[in-house]
Amino acid sequence: MNKFLTGALIFLAIFMILLGMIFIIASGMENIVIGAVFVVIAGILLFLSYRTTKIEAAKPSVVNQTFQVKMEGSGELTEKQLRCRSCGAPLTDKNLKVIQGGVMMTCPYCGAVAALEEAPKW
Ligand SMILES: [Zn+2]
Repeated sequence: MNKFLTGALIFLAIFMILLGMIFIIASGMENIVIGAVFVVIAGILLFLSYRTTKIEAAKPSVVNQTFQVKMEGSGELTEKQLRCRSCGAPLTDKNLKVIQGGVMMTCPYCGAVAALEEAPKW
């Protein structure tokens, strides 16, 4: 739904409220009912236009942003078994964390944090 259509919808709703008021003021049971119907429809229109504008506003304007982080090194990145450099405890992939493009490992035993270096190809 574009802005012009929403504006037209709100305009129509206001027009219908005014028309409904005229019917109610004119009195007579039938006129009051017609007037009330107009006001109710106008209220629904206003609610719908409000909701659509809210939905439109909630949508992010830029959606096509894909981040591709390739963890491909020139050589083998990690060995099968990682060991803490401080205490020698075995580390799992759960202890690995990617921070600013680098792989950091945190030892669950001694709490040592170390950057992982990739092994050279040669
Ligand atoms: Zn450790």
